Amino acid sequence: MAVKQTAGRRDLGDFAPKFAELNDDVLFGEVWSREDKLSLRDRSVVTVVSLMAQGLVDSSFRYHLETAKQNGITKEERADILTHAAFYAGWPKGWAAFRMAKEVWTEDETEEIHGGMFGLGETNDAYAQYFIGQSYLKRLTSTGVPIVNVTFEPGCRNNWHVHQAKAGGGQILLCTDGRGWYQEWGKEPQELHAGDVVEIPSGVKHWHGAAKDSWFSHLAIEVPGVETANEWLEPVGDEEYNKLK
Ligand code: MN
Repeated sequence: MAVKQTAGRRDLGDFAPKFAELNDDVLFGEVWSREDKLSLRDRSVVTVVSLMAQGLVDSSFRYHLETAKQNGITKEERADILTHAAFYAGWPKGWAAFRMAKEVWTEDETEEIHGGMFGLGETNDAYAQYFIGQSYLKRLTSTGVPIVNVTFEPGCRNNWHVHQAKAGGGQILLCTDGRGWYQEWGKEPQELHAGDVVEIPSGVKHWHGAAKDSWFSHLAIEVPGVETANEWLEPVGDEEYNKLK
């Protein structure tokens, strides 16, 4: 598959159209795309080491460190690649490369912490059959009012469902992290962010979950009621879900 690159035309398309074309169509479109000869992962190693060996630790180095991560090179491997290359390319170049690599890694760490301030908890295996995608549960209370921190990976949502009760009941969602959606049957979907509160009366058919491109966490508070039970219904299909931004 061809690697899609538009940086050349975006940054230099007007000023140097030939350079932009060679960058986007030849370097990326042809050379980077020869995955049958050398994997993207290996190409990232060659590129990172080449830039580092020249002492070129600018925005292109940063771009290639991020690309290396996307191409499956772990933090530990990136550290080892730079350490190894420093012996051949020069120690000060190793230092300079690590200074920038640390910034990229710090962003990685931030991005890898999901679940917000209450934490991610365990994979939601018990209710997995009522969810599309991976979700996580962290039970925060063991007596009184049950409160659970629910985290959805990007694209994950629960099936349509109803919190049934003879009296009282229902559910309160306190959004704590990321971006997600809540929808009641027959109504427009509501976009949710940290700090939003959703009050769901018993007997109302609805679903909640993450946005396509974002993790999402909310506290789910079970409102006490008489003879409460969850009624799980059909999944939220890709067609309706994919219309959401
Ligand atoms: Mn619910």
